[in-house]
Amino acid sequence: LIEARDLALTFGETPALRGASLTVDAGEVLAIMGPSGSGKSTLLHCLAGILTPDSGEVHFNGRRIDTMNEARRSELRRRTFGFVFQFGQLVPELTAEENVALPLLFGGTSRAGALAQARPWFARLGLDGMQRRRSGELSGGQAQRIALARGLVARPQVLFADEPTGALDSLTGEQVMELLVGTAREQGTTVILVTHEPRVAAYADREAVVRDGRASTFAAERIAP
Ligand code: ATP
Ligand code: MG
Repeated sequence: LIEARDLALTFGETPALRGASLTVDAGEVLAIMGPSGSGKSTLLHCLAGILTPDSGEVHFNGRRIDTMNEARRSELRRRTFGFVFQFGQLVPELTAEENVALPLLFGGTSRAGALAQARPWFARLGLDGMQRRRSGELSGGQAQRIALARGLVARPQVLFADEPTGALDSLTGEQVMELLVGTAREQGTTVILVTHEPRVAAYADREAVVRDGRASTFAAERIAP
C-alpha cells in the first residue's frame, strides 16, 4: 500500500533520515520503534505526505506522493488518512463530539450528519456522557480515546499514530491500543504507529526499527487483537 524508497531528509545540519526504506501492506498494523532522535516521527511524516524528503520516493497506492503538489497532498491527508498524536491535540474550543466529527466536516459532511456519525463512538469507547465536554474537562485517557475516534471516524485507509499511548499510564495505554487495533481491523484500516514501548509494539503485525535515519523491518511476536 505504501512504499518508501531511500528517504533522506536533513533539518539544517541534522540528518534525520539517511536512506530509510520501508513498505507497508494494506490492512497491516506496523509499529515503528527506535531510540529517541533516530528519525521515527520524521519517517512517519514523510509517509503521510506531511514532510517532503530531500531525496527518495514515497508511493501510496501506486501514486507517487512526495512530488505531488501541496493541494493534492492535503486532499489525500484529509480524505484518505487519519491521524492520532501523543497529546491528543483536541481543539479546546470544541466539544468532544465536535472534535470527533471534525474530519467528516472537513470532508464535506453536513454538521448534523457528522455529529450523528460521531455519536456511536462514545458508547464504543466507553465515553457515554462525555459528548458535550471540552478537552479541559477530560482526563488524559478520555481525551486520547476521543482523539482516536477522531482519527478513525472517517474510515481512513491509513491511520498514522505518533506515540498514541505516550502520555498514558500502561493500563490506559493498553485499553487505547485494544480499541485502536480492534477498530482498525474491523474497518480494514492500515495502521502505522510510532512507539518506544515494546508492550504497544506487541499489538503490531510487524515492527520497523529506525536507527540513525535508516529502517529495518521484522515480523512481530503478536500478542493481541
Ligand atoms: P523521539 O522518539 O524523541 O520522538 P524521533 O525518532 O521521532 O524521536 P525525529 O523527531 O524524527 O526523532 O527527529 C530526528 C532528528 O531530526 C533529531 O535529531 C531531531 O532533533 C531532528 N529534527 C526533527 N524535526 C526537526 C525540525 N523540525 N527541525 C530541526 N530538527 C529536527
Ligand atoms: Mg518522535
